[in-house]
Amino acid sequence: MDRLIFDSEHILFRDTVRHFMLTNVAPHAERWRRDGMVDRAVYRQAGEAGLLCLWAQADVGGAGIADLRFDQIIIEENIRHGETGFYIHLHSNLVAPYIDRLGSPTLRARLMPGIVAGDTILAIAMTEPGGGSDLRAVQTRAIRDGDGWRLSGTKTYISNGILSDAIVVVARCRDLPGEPIGLFLVERDMAGLSRGKPLKKMGLASQDTAEIMLDDVHVPADNLLGDPTAGFGTLMRFLGTERLIAAIASIAAAQVALDLTLDFVRHRRAFGQAIGQFQHNRFRLAALRAQIDAVQAMVDQLVLRANAGSLEGGDAASAKLLASEVESQMVDLGVQLHGGAGYMDEYRISRLYTDARISRIFAGSNEIMLEIIARGMDLDTRS
Ligand SMILES: Cc1cc2nc3c(=O)[nH]c(=O)nc-3n(C[C@H](O)[C@H](O)[C@H](O)COP(=O)(O)OP(=O)(O)OC[C@H]3O[C@@H](n4cnc5c(N)ncnc54)[C@H](O)[C@@H]3O)c2cc1C
Repeated sequence: MDRLIFDSEHILFRDTVRHFMLTNVAPHAERWRRDGMVDRAVYRQAGEAGLLCLWAQADVGGAGIADLRFDQIIIEENIRHGETGFYIHLHSNLVAPYIDRLGSPTLRARLMPGIVAGDTILAIAMTEPGGGSDLRAVQTRAIRDGDGWRLSGTKTYISNGILSDAIVVVARCRDLPGEPIGLFLVERDMAGLSRGKPLKKMGLASQDTAEIMLDDVHVPADNLLGDPTAGFGTLMRFLGTERLIAAIASIAAAQVALDLTLDFVRHRRAFGQAIGQFQHNRFRLAALRAQIDAVQAMVDQLVLRANAGSLEGGDAASAKLLASEVESQMVDLGVQLHGGAGYMDEYRISRLYTDARISRIFAGSNEIMLEIIARGMDLDTRS
């Protein structure tokens, strides 16, 4: 289905991004998967190409382009031609806005230029060994220390956990009334910060997911992000965009899986015909074609809503839920129709399959997405 949200400048931009992915990312992807992480250099190259934090203002080196369609194109091209473990969107769209919008003017001026240039790589640490869905139950503690803070606790499953130079940490402010949740920026050279080895995972082999330990880390007052009593509300606001970004990535992966599968079933033969010609397979592919198009239309619509500043959390949750479910169905069918080849690492569909499994769990699990959607349905009102 033709997508109507892109203008000629987006189409030209897509060519530039595709060239970047084919030149700077794809040739290294296999080695990165063996190493369990991408090269730091790729962030710098993306910065030089003007592909990081497009939305950032000129005073910190950005292009000031607050149009999510450009970010959407970067995500789509990275999934189609780059490498899924290169978390360019985590850096640019999920973490950098916390620093740009909530950081003090001095913190912003000190860090944002390096973030836009790709010298400073970012991560966000919410999840703990004790749980990730229930963010109100965070145990990592922040205690006042003069006009700064001391942070202690353990975070797990943190994307960019090894490469990151600056980490937004979610912590409970123990000595403030009600022990509210605050957001703090922990930097690479702070004493007491340590990291585990990259965690071995089912998929996303080139993504350095890791544990992060904070042992009485002194965080200066300037590294507090926003009001320490309002961190939970801030997270809820920012997580809406995170879910739309997750939906963009999931539906892009579904599209790639469909294209790879169509290509395969047109050529692979059994019983004297291409396997795509069996009615059973044609119908299953047709049903997914229809679902992918429908969810893509929804995602594109929400991208325009985000541009207009009217993205609703419940709508973002719906898109994340549907896109990740369709992605799962499509990669499963893709592997099935590839037969034994679909189980081989050499065929990309096998990696799309293992990469996809996390989409229903992270950025808020799909059960939490249902919870968010249900909350907006007025079901708890008693008559
Ligand atoms: C590859 C990868 C990358 C990640 N990157 C990051 C990152 O960069 N930063 C970060 O902070 N975290 C990250 N995470 C963590 C991820 O966000 C969490 O795993 C996720 O939020 C779920 O938390 P949990 O694993 O603690 O599961 P739990 O919260 O223990 O949940 C377990 C199960 O219970 C279900 N459940 C929980 N509550 C309810 C409910 N109310 N109703 C119904 N079912 C419920 C969940 O849906 C899930 O199925 C990453 C995880 C992975 C695997």
